[in-house]
Amino acid sequence: MRGIYVHVPFCVRKCGYCDFYSVAGVEEERDRYPALVEREMDLLLRAFPGEASVTADTVYFGGGTPTVLGPDRLNRLLAAIRSRLPVTENAEVTTEANPGTVTGADFVRLREGGFNRVSLGVQSFRRDTLAALGRIHSVEDVRTAYQDARRAGFSSVGIDLIFGNPGQREAEWQEDLDLAVTFLPDHVSAYALAPEPGTPIHEAIADGGIALPDDDSVARMYAAAMKTLREAGYRHYEISNFCRPGKECRHNLKYWRREGYLGLGPSAHGLLFPGESAPFGLRTANPPSLPDYHGALSDGRLPWGSPRVCDREDAWKESLIFGLRMADGVSSPSIEKKNGPPPEPVRGAVEHLIGSGLLLRDGDRLRLPERHWFVSNEVLQRLA
Ligand code: SF4
Repeated sequence: MRGIYVHVPFCVRKCGYCDFYSVAGVEEERDRYPALVEREMDLLLRAFPGEASVTADTVYFGGGTPTVLGPDRLNRLLAAIRSRLPVTENAEVTTEANPGTVTGADFVRLREGGFNRVSLGVQSFRRDTLAALGRIHSVEDVRTAYQDARRAGFSSVGIDLIFGNPGQREAEWQEDLDLAVTFLPDHVSAYALAPEPGTPIHEAIADGGIALPDDDSVARMYAAAMKTLREAGYRHYEISNFCRPGKECRHNLKYWRREGYLGLGPSAHGLLFPGESAPFGLRTANPPSLPDYHGALSDGRLPWGSPRVCDREDAWKESLIFGLRMADGVSSPSIEKKNGPPPEPVRGAVEHLIGSGLLLRDGDRLRLPERHWFVSNEVLQRLA
């Protein structure tokens, strides 16, 4: 089964660290948006009729800020997906929500429309940190949004947090963690801040106007998240993700397990398995531009640019690089069953990492030792 991702490219305003594609967007653009995604699905089904028989069991609306569209447009989009593509009855249907953009009535409408999981972009419970990050919402908005989502009956409510923020002290992060667990969320994501080049926070750091905590301090913050969340009963199932038993994000598991997913909307990426033409998968990438996306669809073209046909080496590398982010690691025989034996460069890189102690072989499984999780990107890059 596959997943379906819809990118909603609107935000109230840009946060100081973010380079995800989104625009402030006028009301007419938001009104037009569901019809554009519907057009993209229709073009996809015309070019790849076989996709109409691939069932999805997860749908994820991310952004941007999906809740800026409002519940009616989101529900319309979800209904449009279900009317064109098979989606299981008990699919996990998530929307990201920014606490400053959603009301209790909105959550009720979204539940009625079929959404059953919400991921709240909290980032911090401190007013000064929220201001430093350029978030639009207050701490009070977070409390209200969380309680509203619970009252509306979502079966899973998650909280996203950021640590290593400008000027942040370790004790402040610990307070954020301690407060987060009192909400009893089903899922917690905790990412170290990584301001992207070109963003205001990146510029301010380069100019010396603000400073991030040093690497050792950020590593201790990561360790504090592991300790606090584990002691509160959360399973640390992926490098940056924690959940109550059985509450993993099923949609994100598809990325880490290299299962198929459709990517709809500007800047969305996808991985299709259309059969013999691409036995190891076809990677699609929509342009990070609403006008370019709109232009392609108006010309009757899929907005993919040049999709990449993966070869066996791509499939093996991606299966390892994404799969090793999970606490359980990967099963080499399962990857081999899907993709054939590993090409020599991949086998060599794996053996080298095992020999250096950066990777563990545990029966049939390969895992990243926990002590390397904080620097996982550096380790996993060696497989690229
Ligand atoms: S709300 Fe999310 S997507 Fe929008 S600018 Fe902020 S971090 Fe980026």
